[in-house]
Amino acid sequence: MHGMSDLNEKNLARYLEIEGILNGFFSAFDYCFEHCVKPEIIKNNNQPISACCKNKYYMLYDIEHQAFDLLKEARESLYGNPGDYTWNSPISPCEYHNPLKGCVLTTHKSPICLAFMCRESIDLLRETHGIFTYDYLGINYALEWILTGYFSDSQYTEFKDSILTMTQAVSKPHII
Ligand code: SF4
Ligand code: SF4
Repeated sequence: MHGMSDLNEKNLARYLEIEGILNGFFSAFDYCFEHCVKPEIIKNNNQPISACCKNKYYMLYDIEHQAFDLLKEARESLYGNPGDYTWNSPISPCEYHNPLKGCVLTTHKSPICLAFMCRESIDLLRETHGIFTYDYLGINYALEWILTGYFSDSQYTEFKDSILTMTQAVSKPHII
């Protein structure tokens, strides 16, 4: 017999595994810094920008569920409470946003923070790599379902494989 907390731990471990795989996808795609953050900083007279971190997204869309509590507890034990952060010149309402380096959470992000891609980045994914399947709200819900255990084992494996396939596609040399 597994208790509820064992199940939540298992789901959190899966969530963190997918987070690592998604981060691999984002770094292979390598869009945000070169195409958005860097040009925006230049436009802003070399002053920091907050890009798409314009709210406290680490909590905004969290749902009331033990699995979300567990994610938050694990995050705060690693990175501290949001209220612990006092930046000199904050540029985002999100306390986890370091004005000079971006998000301090290298892991344990909330689903929406992890899944989000803006319109421009999704367009480039389509135009350059022919990937039409990245739907950030869909990814957000899939992450939520992994965390809360709503996904079956096979749905989980299928989702994981789809991200690995996208990662391979964006890693191939391409012609712009
Ligand atoms: S998702 Fe879009 S807005 Fe956010 S940092 Fe990347 S390119 Fe910029
Ligand atoms: S937690 Fe990180 S990714 Fe999410 S809004 Fe804050 S700085 Fe952005």
